[in-house]
Amino acid sequence: MLNLVLFGPPGAGKGTQAEKLVKKYQLVHLSTGDVFRANIKGGTELGKLAKSYMDKGELVPDEVTIKMLESEVGKHVSPKGFIFDGFPRTTAQAQALDKFLTTKNLSITMTLALEVEVEELTKRILLRGKESGRADDQDEDIVRNRVKEYNNKTAPLKDFYLKQGKLKSVEGTGSIDEIFNSLCKEIDNG
Ligand code: ADP
Repeated sequence: MLNLVLFGPPGAGKGTQAEKLVKKYQLVHLSTGDVFRANIKGGTELGKLAKSYMDKGELVPDEVTIKMLESEVGKHVSPKGFIFDGFPRTTAQAQALDKFLTTKNLSITMTLALEVEVEELTKRILLRGKESGRADDQDEDIVRNRVKEYNNKTAPLKDFYLKQGKLKSVEGTGSIDEIFNSLCKEIDNG
């Protein structure tokens, strides 16, 4: 199985690239942000809870996020692999994911880190906010807080995967297809 973690700051293009990778490698796309947004739309308890954090640009608590992710993985019978997009975002989440996959005799194949400069990120997110209407993309204070959360809690995960020998860094600026080709090259070279 090909199990990929797509890693990068908010606005790095994880969702865009995940969609293309899913098609090419026939993987299941699990985006924690998308699942939270679907729950908010559906008015579920999980959605209400997630919204209270997302509206501030904060991470949703680990316990809730991990439980949700595990339940999403469990919904798929014998997939070719998963793309984890927006998960893990903390060391606790990464440890929980490893542990969970081990119980299923699975593991992460590699972590693909999209590298994009901060100014470019903010520009992309605010543009996406205008186009999509996503509330957490429209407010500069929220965006700034998301980047702060990323730097404090998520960026240290690079070291976690580096130590496991699983981290592949990919330039995240350029055309969508150029970036996609770089990602495919890393995947195909194993
Ligand atoms: P982006 O990566 O562009 O910020 P996402 O759609 O991946 O957007 O996530 C939106 C929000 O959902 C995050 O700011 C956070 O509040 C919440 N979220 C998503 N994934 C996680 C996670 N793994 N752990 C905690 N919170 C998360």
